[in-house]
Amino acid sequence: MNRRHFNAALLGAGLHATRGFGAARPPNIVLIMADDAGYGDLSCYGATRVATPNLDRMAAQGVRFTDAHSSAATCTPSRYSLMTGEYAWRRKGTNILPGDASLIVNPDRPTLPSALKSAGYRTACVGKWHLGLGKGDVDWNGDIRPGPIETGFDYSFIIPATGDRVPCVYVEDHRVVGLNPKDPLAVSYARPIGGEPTGKDHPEYLKMPLSHGHDQTIVNGISRIGYMTGGRSAWWVDEDMAGVLTRRATDFIDKNAAAPFFLYFATHDIHVPRVPRAEFRGSTQCGVRCDAIRELDWSVGQVLTALQRNRLDENTLVIFTSDNGPVVDDGYADGSVEQLNGHTPAGKLRGGKYEIYEGGTREPFITRWPGRIKPGTSDALVCQIDLAASLAALAGAKPAGPDSENVLAALLGQSKQGREQLVEQANRLALRQGRWKYIEGNERAGAELYDLAQDLPETRNLAAAQPERVREMSRRLSEIRERRAP
Ligand code: CA
Repeated sequence: MNRRHFNAALLGAGLHATRGFGAARPPNIVLIMADDAGYGDLSCYGATRVATPNLDRMAAQGVRFTDAHSSAATCTPSRYSLMTGEYAWRRKGTNILPGDASLIVNPDRPTLPSALKSAGYRTACVGKWHLGLGKGDVDWNGDIRPGPIETGFDYSFIIPATGDRVPCVYVEDHRVVGLNPKDPLAVSYARPIGGEPTGKDHPEYLKMPLSHGHDQTIVNGISRIGYMTGGRSAWWVDEDMAGVLTRRATDFIDKNAAAPFFLYFATHDIHVPRVPRAEFRGSTQCGVRCDAIRELDWSVGQVLTALQRNRLDENTLVIFTSDNGPVVDDGYADGSVEQLNGHTPAGKLRGGKYEIYEGGTREPFITRWPGRIKPGTSDALVCQIDLAASLAALAGAKPAGPDSENVLAALLGQSKQGREQLVEQANRLALRQGRWKYIEGNERAGAELYDLAQDLPETRNLAAAQPERVREMSRRLSEIRERRAP
């Protein structure tokens, strides 16, 4: 760690490296990435049917952002941008990946974790990965690489893709956890293998009926996308998943309290299948999707408790956000639609997961660093893609990522100024410039223009009324698109 760079970075962010960790060390960084949680899903963002006391406490002690974004409205491109600081739409093959896909992050490029590692941080990835593993055919019974370790993490404990996709096993560093060599694990996205029952042929085995897709191999009474067989001793139990992952996250904190660390804790909650453990079932007034939010909040509380236990509160920047906007029916008939009870997952925003409207990418986003961050709210425009440059600056490392901007001052609540502009990604692209949002047209829909200051729910398309602004923003989007990555 280069202390001069660290101090310069703090000064650049309007801070002074004086007391506290001052000369000793840069702060630990914990990035908690929820899955599919929406702008209206937390009580500190207006939810009333579900309480999130730990996240509310975090918000009360830190900065709560109102215009912070994921880089895309679905998981894989969003997480690709988080890791690389590069817009995912610049790269082919970065859309939602099957569970047997190859790693899509080039191990030779600098990443958010590799930048922090180069600055002396011990780095860990716990939870959902969904950026592919290996090159070509993975042998799930051998060393699985490249993956998180090759892209900058010292330690990893992951679910390879998503909860609703095979393989339904945990991978620690390069190995499937709990595998019995006498019962090898095989995975296929092409055809049924091994004679395992499927949701399509045996709906009577399911404890959670499906609504669409998800009709392949049944694991733990829930049918998935994709086929797998063997490796039975390694199959996860969905009800235990939040506990297993959270325990790995807090263990990492306990073991690494003495040195600067970066923990990327990517929860499975609140993605489907939503199977919170018994104590959270029925704990809210808006169905099992909200019960999963409650479990997510518990996980956050466990992390905060681990920091406190290790006396790391004042030397740790904690960031909470979600990888894309909300979805209610995402393939399982789990009652979430019927039991919403007035809960609005995207708050007042239009759209959600998969969609280009604000609900697709505008996320809950909270930063907390007691003693350093003054509590408040911020309407600065920031994006998860900016964490690569911003956290590298905080650590005194060389910034990673061609599209990542250093918005550290905004993240620390020292400035209300975030980005001037941002490209949002779903099945089409949109450009944000301040209050204005331009959505490009495609073969099915025309261009759209919204004034978010007057019309946050994107109800009045001003494209026809303001052709000049549409032209100008379209031209600007083309410029950004054509800019070659350095
Ligand atoms: Ca997601």
